[in-house]
Amino acid sequence: MINDPHSLRDLVADTERKLVEYKAQLDDVVRRCQHTWGKTTYEPRQVKSHIIPGSEAGSDFLPEITVPAKTFKRWKRVCIKCELTQITEKTKPVGLPGFFVPLIPDFGD
Ligand SMILES: [Zn+2]
Repeated sequence: MINDPHSLRDLVADTERKLVEYKAQLDDVVRRCQHTWGKTTYEPRQVKSHIIPGSEAGSDFLPEITVPAKTFKRWKRVCIKCELTQITEKTKPVGLPGFFVPLIPDFGD
């Protein structure tokens, strides 16, 4: 345990500089990676039921609203080389229009 504030400030400043440098290096590695995606997994996002309070009497009265629970479809994939994680709630069709067109997760590529 270091008790000298001057030494601790120097350590904090040095660690912050290293953190910025390592993050920049990681960003560069991820940017240059020709991603190889692992298995896409289905990980739905669930929002619990909640209440939006109404306004108080005297103002424009709005009643309390109960928002029901909802599950959003969501998928995740991780690059096996650089560990970049992508998450999407979008889907896109595959196949020929006019035929049965299934939807697949759309990661924007
Ligand atoms: Zn990658």
